[in-house]
Amino acid sequence: MKIILLGAPGAGKGTQAEVICERLSIPAISTGEIIREALKSGTEMGRKAKSYMEAGQLVPDEIVIGIIRERLAKDDCANGFILDGFPRTIVQAEALDKMGFAIDKVIDIEVADEDIVARISGRRVCDSCGAIYHVRYKSSAVDGVCDKCGGTLSQRKDDQPETVKERLIVYHEQTEPLKEYYRRQGRLFIVEGEEHIADTTRKTLAILEEAQL
Ligand code: AMP
Repeated sequence: MKIILLGAPGAGKGTQAEVICERLSIPAISTGEIIREALKSGTEMGRKAKSYMEAGQLVPDEIVIGIIRERLAKDDCANGFILDGFPRTIVQAEALDKMGFAIDKVIDIEVADEDIVARISGRRVCDSCGAIYHVRYKSSAVDGVCDKCGGTLSQRKDDQPETVKERLIVYHEQTEPLKEYYRRQGRLFIVEGEEHIADTTRKTLAILEEAQL
């Protein structure tokens, strides 16, 4: 199954992607994660993306479209994939359509702006494997240490409140129009992003499992 997760930054796309990835055994692909890796290893793409990312802006379309084209060509995507954080603009959605991947479902996780800033302030990410935690809703067994790989958990630089506000503006201007784009294609499903992650997961899986009947 080919799935897109839409939603504002901090709506919980990454956490849902992790669950779906395990349940359906298809890779979860996060363009944000790929860019953060490139930044860490100091590649040219990472250097180009750095200033945009740190300012809460979108990285230019041609860069992220290139990243996705390359990633989706890998063998592990043959049976499907979950896209977390791509597409984020109409240009990116059109490019994905042109690549010929028939997307089955687009799930939009909706969370009110006022809840986003509060939620993101508690988000922690593993520096080594990228696993996502939350100090209140999904804490690790040992404070500051990743359950999966023992890596150090830290706050993303772009999760600071000022940058989050900018990311929300960008989301409403450039990414939210994708809802209409996919609604017109008949692929859009809306899930209310609940305070408790398990509730959001239950609703998300119900939508996906119905599709598999
Ligand atoms: P995320 O981890 O999905 O919140 O992404 C973090 C940051 O990476 C975003 O704020 C953008 O700067 C950049 N980014 C990730 N995915 C995209 C995309 N599809 N288009 C443009 N920029 C992106």
